[in-house]
Amino acid sequence: MGRRYLIAGNWKCNGTLAENEERIKVFNEAGAIPENVDVALCVPSIHIPMVLSKVRKEITVGAQDCGSNDGNGAYTGEVGAHQIKDIGCTWVIIGHSERREGFGMAGEPVELCAEKTKVAIKNGLKVMFCIGEKKEERESGVTMEVCAKQMAPLAKAIEAKDWESIAIAYEPVWAIGTGLTATPEMAQETHKSIRTWVSENVSPEVAEAVRIQYGGSMKGANAKELLAQPDIDGGLIGGASLKADFFNVVNGIP
Ligand code: PEP
Repeated sequence: MGRRYLIAGNWKCNGTLAENEERIKVFNEAGAIPENVDVALCVPSIHIPMVLSKVRKEITVGAQDCGSNDGNGAYTGEVGAHQIKDIGCTWVIIGHSERREGFGMAGEPVELCAEKTKVAIKNGLKVMFCIGEKKEERESGVTMEVCAKQMAPLAKAIEAKDWESIAIAYEPVWAIGTGLTATPEMAQETHKSIRTWVSENVSPEVAEAVRIQYGGSMKGANAKELLAQPDIDGGLIGGASLKADFFNVVNGIP
């Protein structure tokens, strides 16, 4: 069986309760969701209960990060994977470049992202694991080396069966929130290299099954061409997921 598409919105730190309720209303009324796609919304943690109670059941909900703690403890400010699962979420985004870069502070190392992923899966969540190169890294031709360095600690930390709970989100950092999108050919080339890396470093079976989402200024106007590429299995969408246009992406799947 082929891979199902995964279209996920990343609302980041956007919206009041009222504004996000309005977004849910728009998405609930946006028409039928195609058969071959999973749709998820990763929303601010504080709005998760509201979204879970209001969103139509075909759309799953996720958090945008979790702690590396496996269970309760003295971790002020942290939200644990066990709590995200307990409240009813399906997904968590881990290693988004905005967190890896640390908003100007010390960011999250890839080893920590791998550890968080292990804990999230152990607690029953599915993970969108973000990787991707910066502009200068693409320009100096090391895109795949960078992606491999981000995936290696993950491959080491988890077991083969855990890959069922992972989608890799390839997000070139230079394309996130900038309006710049990788061309479909450029994105396909990197997605194919990522799949080859998984085949060689995990297993050919996992490589065939794992979903690789594209992220970086994806919107209704460019989604169709990106999603038509053989190794692009969906999208992780920031800005456009705050608007009705998100459903143009959902409807852009082949
Ligand atoms: C993201 O936040 O993961 C993202 C891809 O953002 P945008 O779609 O706004 O570029």
